[in-house]
Amino acid sequence: MPELPEVETVRRGLQPVLEGARFAKVDVHRGDLRWPLAKDFVKRLHGKTVTGLGRRAKYLLADLSSGDVLMMHLGMSGSFHVFENHGAASLGRYYHERAQHVTHDHVVFHMSSGAIVTFNDPRRFGSMKIVSRQNLDAEPLLRGLGPEPLGNAFDAAMLANACRGKKTSLKAALLDQRVVAGLGNIYVCEALHRALLSPKRLASTIATRSGAPNDRAERLVDAIKRVLADAIKDGGSSLRDHKLTDGGLGMFQHHFRVYDREGQPCRTPGCGGTVKRLVQNGRSTFYCPTCQK
Ligand SMILES: [Zn+2]
Repeated sequence: MPELPEVETVRRGLQPVLEGARFAKVDVHRGDLRWPLAKDFVKRLHGKTVTGLGRRAKYLLADLSSGDVLMMHLGMSGSFHVFENHGAASLGRYYHERAQHVTHDHVVFHMSSGAIVTFNDPRRFGSMKIVSRQNLDAEPLLRGLGPEPLGNAFDAAMLANACRGKKTSLKAALLDQRVVAGLGNIYVCEALHRALLSPKRLASTIATRSGAPNDRAERLVDAIKRVLADAIKDGGSSLRDHKLTDGGLGMFQHHFRVYDREGQPCRTPGCGGTVKRLVQNGRSTFYCPTCQK
């Protein structure tokens, strides 16, 4: 499943294609994605210009000249592909030759620039929805989300306050989208390892009793921001080279320090420990019991 860095990489790839371009034609081959596309979906896009392409958590948000916002989510297996005169560039997972995957091209945007953007999703857990920009704050899919982990609002004071008194594990707290938006299993494991904090530690232990941040909260926020920034940088570089063909993670998967590395040596310099796997809330956690305390 694409996580935040992959979605941000897709946003950066689509931005130059969509921004400033008009939807000349929109084809919907299958409207039954995670939920059915609205009956007026095509009508609300047709002839409108994309004025900006942003992101909130794992949603891409295309602002339109009409005052609407097109919300797009990749789900489990969604990807966008851009076709231009000089060939195709793949943005996301599951790249194949166009002829092979065309049956899963559910939505096709023909842009005024001549570019064609297809949304391909074999499992159809992805989604698209058009809402008015004015009502975006009240949108149920976005309401209640915590701050963006790469934004200024996400800092040690904020995270400590959110974890104050929490008797859940630190890992569960970081996966809670109300605490911080868009973090998933992979990057939570990686961030906890970089911060040298055990995923089993109680969330409340990164705050003082009054909710102020301690040194652990500072380390954790720093680690979260660094691991996401590094992954986006790697995704971006594979996108530029048109090498993002075998998965949305780009090259960053080769830099995982603990994720999917059970039984292998810890990558913390001088640690000498071995990566272990445990199951928390039904999901695999990878960590090093030697250096993550
Ligand atoms: Zn270690």
